[in-house]
Amino acid sequence: MRATYDVAVIGGGVFGAWSAYFLQKSGAKVILLDGYGPGNSRSSSGGESRIIRMGYGADEIYTRWSMRALPLWKELFADAGRPELFQQTGVLWIAPDKYLYALDSLEMLRKNNIPCETLSASGLRQRYPQIAFEDDAWGIFEPESGVLMARRAVRAVVDQAIRRGAAYRNAAVVNPSAEKALAGITTTAGEEISAGSYVFACGSWLPKIFPELLGPRVFTSRQEIIFFGVPRGDDRFAQPAMPTWLYLKDQFYGMPDIESRGFKVADDQHGPRVDPDTQSRVASPDAVEAARQFVARRFPALKNAPIVETRVCQYENTSNGDFLIDRHPQMENVWLVGGGSGHGFKHGPSVGEYVAAQVTGDSGTRAKAEPRFSLATKLSTQNRAVH
Ligand SMILES: Cc1cc2nc3c(=O)[nH]c(=O)nc-3n(C[C@H](O)[C@H](O)[C@H](O)COP(=O)(O)OP(=O)(O)OC[C@H]3O[C@@H](n4cnc5c(N)ncnc54)[C@H](O)[C@@H]3O)c2cc1C
Repeated sequence: MRATYDVAVIGGGVFGAWSAYFLQKSGAKVILLDGYGPGNSRSSSGGESRIIRMGYGADEIYTRWSMRALPLWKELFADAGRPELFQQTGVLWIAPDKYLYALDSLEMLRKNNIPCETLSASGLRQRYPQIAFEDDAWGIFEPESGVLMARRAVRAVVDQAIRRGAAYRNAAVVNPSAEKALAGITTTAGEEISAGSYVFACGSWLPKIFPELLGPRVFTSRQEIIFFGVPRGDDRFAQPAMPTWLYLKDQFYGMPDIESRGFKVADDQHGPRVDPDTQSRVASPDAVEAARQFVARRFPALKNAPIVETRVCQYENTSNGDFLIDRHPQMENVWLVGGGSGHGFKHGPSVGEYVAAQVTGDSGTRAKAEPRFSLATKLSTQNRAVH
């Protein structure tokens, strides 16, 4: 016998988890399925930690979505009794003189009344003597931003959705196919599920599930993260002395030593295309060397620090970095949700709220769809514009 729901959400990463949460909250009967488990190690949401910041250059839509998301994260963590899943480390942007992205970010932060502070090179050196700054460096500090403890945060969202009545299955869904409306989905274990709508929030797997449609439009890139061990008894690399930081010129970012797991360093440039099921999760010598060289230049006291942990993940990039949240062009009750493009995690609550409104709202009540999230704007050549 087929189980029947209003909405089936396939994919329990941050986008699927929050979509299920808000759909269930809206009164829909929801089932959430994930083949490897929510926040699993292969997924983009499976890392230890993710930045939440408000600065987004001139892309005000993401500044606003971040502003909306942070209190929703905090509220959910409070409900779950897990306030530690948000760490208010503050976020420090470091840029060279006249760097457009930083100037645009500052303008947007001020326009939206987001608390922030600018620092000159001498101000930066005074406050952060453990970081090496160039003479033309300047900084923007967002004191209220910080870090989401990603993997555990996703679990918390799924738990809260279940608490509200959503069903959850650890099950992989077979690729769907239908000429028009999709009648049902089947799991690899043979279970059949039917629903009014289907939300495929499958991150890096979207091009594998819809190969013709999304194969050319979602680019999965290998991303490597290195955690350096900090010196014993030295608090210069933990909060409050060390904030979360983004070195714009070098395209590296990282975080303080949170929960004594090490000082996180990551290269934001896109690595080679990879398959999320099979790519090696062992850090490459090249990535380790690049992180070492960066750390030696910018955090000299960690020059010879040992590596205490590494993680390998993948970004699920759209052509320009805008999210994909739209209906499937043929299967009219199927929604495509993804394209987090290396910056999506923080926006989970805003994505979930938007998805729930789009999927359940009738044409009279549904908020206007954001053109930047449409399938039509997703091209087959990469030209990264959103960071
Ligand atoms: C190294 C790294 C650093 C990042 N840093 C940041 C950051 O600092 N701040 C930030 O905001 N964002 C950051 N991001 C981006 C952010 O993590 C992603 O955009 C976000 O996690 C994407 O979530 P998702 O739910 O779309 O995909 P995923 O988390 O990948 O979830 C997709 C899920 O779908 C499931 N699935 C796939 N196929 C099926 C199927 N057939 N049946 C059932 N289940 C299926 C998978 O098992 C998986 O759990 C980073 C990403 C990476 C990789």
